[in-house]
Amino acid sequence: MGDSDKINILIVDDTPQNLLSLEAILENDEVNIVKASSGNEALGVVLRHDFALVLLDVHMPDMDGFETAELMRSNAKTRHIPIIFVTAISKEQQHIFKGYEAGAVDYIFKPLDPDILINKVKIFIELFRQKKKIEDNNLALEISNRKILEQQKALIEEERIKVLFQMAGATAHELNQPLMALLGYIELLKMEGENPEKSLAYISKINEAGQRISDIVRKIRTFQHDETSVYSNQTTIVNLNQKIRILSVEDSAKDFDSYVLLFKSRDDIDLFQAKTISEAFRMLSEEHYDIIFLDYKLSDGNGIDFLRKMASRGHSTPVVVITGHGDEIIASNVIREGASDYLTKTVLSKESISRVITSTLEKSRLKKEVAIAMSRMAEMSIRDKLTGLYNRRYMQEVIEREFEHSQRYKLDLSCLILDLDFFKKINDTYGHLCGDFVLQEFANQLKKTTRKSDLLFRYGGEEFLVLLPQTAIAGALKRAEMIRKECCNHTYCFEQNHIGLTVSIGVASVREHRPENAADLISFADKALFESKNSGRDCVKRH
Ligand code: GH3
Ligand code: MG
Ligand code: MG
Ligand code: MG
Repeated sequence: MGDSDKINILIVDDTPQNLLSLEAILENDEVNIVKASSGNEALGVVLRHDFALVLLDVHMPDMDGFETAELMRSNAKTRHIPIIFVTAISKEQQHIFKGYEAGAVDYIFKPLDPDILINKVKIFIELFRQKKKIEDNNLALEISNRKILEQQKALIEEERIKVLFQMAGATAHELNQPLMALLGYIELLKMEGENPEKSLAYISKINEAGQRISDIVRKIRTFQHDETSVYSNQTTIVNLNQKIRILSVEDSAKDFDSYVLLFKSRDDIDLFQAKTISEAFRMLSEEHYDIIFLDYKLSDGNGIDFLRKMASRGHSTPVVVITGHGDEIIASNVIREGASDYLTKTVLSKESISRVITSTLEKSRLKKEVAIAMSRMAEMSIRDKLTGLYNRRYMQEVIEREFEHSQRYKLDLSCLILDLDFFKKINDTYGHLCGDFVLQEFANQLKKTTRKSDLLFRYGGEEFLVLLPQTAIAGALKRAEMIRKECCNHTYCFEQNHIGLTVSIGVASVREHRPENAADLISFADKALFESKNSGRDCVKRH
């Protein structure tokens, strides 16, 4: 064969003279003429090379043009090649081509008119070029689609590693507190081991701290376990009895049967069918599926509709979209809408399906892992997302520690509870986003008007708690008054709005009010806050 840039045209004729004259007419820089002198020879050649066109003599011994064309049509590899019959059949006999439209693309009559022939061939060359261009584009798109899918996976993995590192940090922090408590009580036990009553109390504290440490360690253990094995609801990849449940959303019985056939040899797969989008969603709400195979065109919508509905309903089952041949644009679009992968109908095979199932399960496992790690992180987190202050969960831990500390070392400890006045009005008037902004800004002011050693917590929605270690009631009242003034003198500017805000504060102290435990201290401050609200707000009250 000639230059690979040239376009191949096959001419088939049993008469050498005809071949030569056809070649003479068609020969030019763009085309590479291949000659075959029988139907058999032609079939051999078309199987090995790609042709833009076959010019096929009708009358040939052994196998005639019709038979040759028939065989070309029946082979998937050669079916697409256009054929022009070259025939001496007269115009009156043209009816014999009727009924053969499916096979013949065109026909040319002998004696050949070179201009007509050249013009017709030109059209086919152009068609071939266009087709190649589309195929090249599709190939480029397919490559870029694959790249996007790989990048997605790499990103998820990166995210996972990031979360794992953060987890390690959070865990270290989490462990630190009970560890310090443990060591502290052991120290106290050493110092006051003579006193049986105190010793007993310290031992119980040591037990408590040990228990907390063991709880945290258990949390870490379960995380590592999930990390290596979870791939679908609570089940593990090492569990060999676990079947992969695949939901095929497919309206064509013929296509579904072909999937059944493809999956037949895999007894680790259970295949289910939904014929419409609505049926699929009904099934999804009733049962768990590991993967969805989604036909792009369905009677009640297309793949994009399906994926959007999945997203809006919060379904996270991975979706593999089955597209028609060469629908790389559709493939790109479905990936953008959240599909895990896509498969082309024409290349569905056991191998391609297995590959997609493995990679989809792997990707979905990674995603789940990241989600689990994130929620564990949130559980361990000590900070409130909106304001950056310590959260309420952490407050419980800290206030007990501080209370114990104040008792042990006979130091004072004060507690302020702050509640923004008529905060609901801000939300109602300016919107929730504005409300969030005001909360953030208030938290920032709080940071500025307190000392480094003070501990700031977001206690509830628009409620805050401040712990002032080694601070007596007088100092605490002064600090509260500073915070109150700072708040009512400040203008909160959000978009075009200038908003005024006041805060009511309740104060209680360990020395002054003698709470029995940390919970009492909070409840005393809370009662004082109630007093401030009752006295017209924007004021500070002590228990
Ligand atoms: P009062 O002076 O009696 O405290 O009146 P109030 O309106 O401040 O108190 P109320 O408890 O009736 O309303 C508190 C409001 O705070 C209701 C809730 O929507 C809002 N809120 C709670 N958390 C948030 C949040 O995170 N962001 C925003 N924007 N609003 C929140
Ligand atoms: Mg269909
Ligand atoms: Mg409130
Ligand atoms: Mg309020």
